[in-house]
Amino acid sequence: MSYLDPLTHLEAITILAIIFLLSIKFKFVDVGGVTASFVVGYVIYVFGGRNYFLALIAFYLVSVVFTKIRVRKVREVENKESGIRGWRNVVANGITATIAAIASGLSGEEKIFYAAYLGALSSAFADTLATEIGLLYPKMPRLITSMRKVKPGTPGAVTTLGYLGGLIGMTILALISSTIDRKFTLHEVFAIIFSSGLVGMTVDSLLGATVQAKYRCRICGKKTESPIHCGLRAEQVEGIEYINTHTVNFVATVIGAVTASIVTTFLTTTR
Ligand SMILES: [Zn+2]
Repeated sequence: MSYLDPLTHLEAITILAIIFLLSIKFKFVDVGGVTASFVVGYVIYVFGGRNYFLALIAFYLVSVVFTKIRVRKVREVENKESGIRGWRNVVANGITATIAAIASGLSGEEKIFYAAYLGALSSAFADTLATEIGLLYPKMPRLITSMRKVKPGTPGAVTTLGYLGGLIGMTILALISSTIDRKFTLHEVFAIIFSSGLVGMTVDSLLGATVQAKYRCRICGKKTESPIHCGLRAEQVEGIEYINTHTVNFVATVIGAVTASIVTTFLTTTR
């Protein structure tokens, strides 16, 4: 029970404090984002343990690097923040993984919750890299539902390069988690991470293209996923109110976790 051990807490605080300070210094995330990351990281560390935490850190660092690259290459992307992550983004991407880590720590159930954890992480990781790398695509992306060309940054927009980005994210996560942890065999880890990541990122795009609320600015006329544009409340033109990019991200990680659990059950019963 790692969460009852005072040393685990001390270790978590020390390591997180270092990452916290580096993140502030290099402006990886804003203050809200860094605080939310600290809480998510802490809970995952004490309940899930070191291996859970290492997988999370891999996701965090790789996402930060790719966001920095994208911001440098493509400065002006409609609907995307400046590249620093806010607390809503951290919570939407991290809450499912956090719950899986808590469930694993409290129940002592090793496999299924660890798989759910990896599934949630894989979904968030794949989607983040698909977005960041997809935005480097020089041509217009296509909407996942109708396949018509849309502006970069449109919810539900997909590119081959984006899917390739997702695959890079999943491969990194699979290589790291199979190296640090031996709960699953190498091919099991790859099956769990690739199935959940692909399902998660596709669900993310499908929800983005359909139910996510889209707005039209009353001043400049631009279509946006943000309810406020040019300093004014924009008019809602599509989707369901309150379903925003964060809701969509969250649902995708839940689907990723469920997919991973189903795949794991299947793999362990057919062994
Ligand atoms: Zn506007």
